[in-house]
Amino acid sequence: MNPKRFADISEPRPTKESLAGEYQAIAAALDRGKRGVALAAWDQLRRRYDTWSALVGLRFAQNTTDEAAKAERDYADAMSPEAADLEIALKRRLLADRGPVAALAGEHAVRLWDTDVTTFDPAIKPDLEEEARVSSQYTELLASAKLEIDGKTVNLAGLGPYAEDPNRSVRHEAERVRWQYFEANAAALDGIYDRLVTLRHGMARKLGFQTYTTLGYRRMRRVDYGPDDVARYRQQVVTHIVPLVARLLEARRIENGWDKLRYWDEALIDPAGNPKPVGDHDMLVDAAATMFDGMHPGLAAFYRQMRDGGFMDLKNRPGKAGGGFCTSFPTEGAPFIFANFNGTHNDIGVFTHEMGHAFQNWESRDQPSVDYLWPTMEAAEINSMGLEFLSYPGIGNLVGENAADRFRRMHLIGALAFLPYGACVDHFQHEVYANPDASPSDRHAMWARLEKLYMPWTDYGDLDFPRKGGRWQAKAHIYGSPFYYIDYTLAQCCAMQFWVKSRENYPQTMKAYVDLCAKGGSAPFQDLVRSAGLVSPFADGALSDVVQEAASFLGV
Ligand SMILES: [Zn+2]
Repeated sequence: MNPKRFADISEPRPTKESLAGEYQAIAAALDRGKRGVALAAWDQLRRRYDTWSALVGLRFAQNTTDEAAKAERDYADAMSPEAADLEIALKRRLLADRGPVAALAGEHAVRLWDTDVTTFDPAIKPDLEEEARVSSQYTELLASAKLEIDGKTVNLAGLGPYAEDPNRSVRHEAERVRWQYFEANAAALDGIYDRLVTLRHGMARKLGFQTYTTLGYRRMRRVDYGPDDVARYRQQVVTHIVPLVARLLEARRIENGWDKLRYWDEALIDPAGNPKPVGDHDMLVDAAATMFDGMHPGLAAFYRQMRDGGFMDLKNRPGKAGGGFCTSFPTEGAPFIFANFNGTHNDIGVFTHEMGHAFQNWESRDQPSVDYLWPTMEAAEINSMGLEFLSYPGIGNLVGENAADRFRRMHLIGALAFLPYGACVDHFQHEVYANPDASPSDRHAMWARLEKLYMPWTDYGDLDFPRKGGRWQAKAHIYGSPFYYIDYTLAQCCAMQFWVKSRENYPQTMKAYVDLCAKGGSAPFQDLVRSAGLVSPFADGALSDVVQEAASFLGV
């Protein structure tokens, strides 16, 4: 990494005028026939803009009570449609000259721009602004939740540890409190979603698409597969994964001596209590160095640079935004990881996950185009979820050697059980956007029907609201990031293939993983998958080896 520390990175704030001026200069270079000069200047401009915008977003997330950081974020939010406008106009111009431009910028970059330009027209600008506004109503409503449990007031994230408490009645109470909140706000949540669906369908029609689904796929920059491929993949999940998860849950029911396995029992994977990190933040950060040392020299060196350069902020503290993410500064090549450790196994999951994103971004820093620094999301999640699985051999450093087997078991079961839920979230959205006139109660019925296909075991007991089809309202992606969710399941299918291979030959699998990281986003999803020796999730048999290996590993 550059000798730079995070604290030394800065980027001057652009203005509407300065951006417009730079775009004019690029257009002037094109007028003179200087394509190479124009493309290089544009790449540099986007790197500077992205670095600035990432810094602004990160500083606000680090302290949401900092008025100056908030003002700067609002400034950046207002700038972003202007920047998008200028960018789309330039992409249109470049695409008119596609042969020579593709020779310079790369075939895949041009294909991505092709997709981008069809998702925007000035006619939908007000709709996009309203979509962002309505989406943030959902975020704000959920963030405002004040829930009473165990004599404390917590937010929805704060329910997490209670929801997986070894004590069954505590878990039940956590879910009762959670769904009571959603039930009390159901009308508002239905209203927000209804508005979003109507807006998205309207934008699709204005852009010339039949329904939002095509536009949604294009917004995700999916250039090498469509809804039919995804439907086939979901069917593979139903065929191969659903029976396996049903067997795992039945084994858990018997192990715990329950007459029925209820919804609130699904989060307690380990009957002895889900394994926790071996220590606090400082201990984990130290122990991780030993773990990465045992995995790959490049990864080990990278981790030390991240840690020593101040490129991690993992501690929970008042005023800090929730969640975990990885962001990057393309002028520097350096990534940054952000999390909120809470003392549960999720700390380890989030940490290894975000480190996977960070390592990919670092390995691919020399890709020629800013378009290639990150892959599309389903491919990016292979890098992150893959590292979660590849951390298995040394995970004892983070959870303690005596809990390492239990952690691996818990993580693998969690990954398998996630697939049917993720596929259900995706299937639901396909039905929603195919039927934009459906009423809110129709949507609850749709969810309830699909849930029986993907999660036939779910027994909500006395939790009326999710029993009647309300569970989807807790999934932020359904509101704010349409069609994104399947990406996690596609990537999980690939990450689990890495796990199977790593059990045969760890160093060779680690090398394939590092090589995949270095490719960044230089190719479409399925090309990246195949280049790493993995089977595309859309091909038959993508899940069969994984299911076989997992069933034998877990003894079911
Ligand atoms: Zn991720």
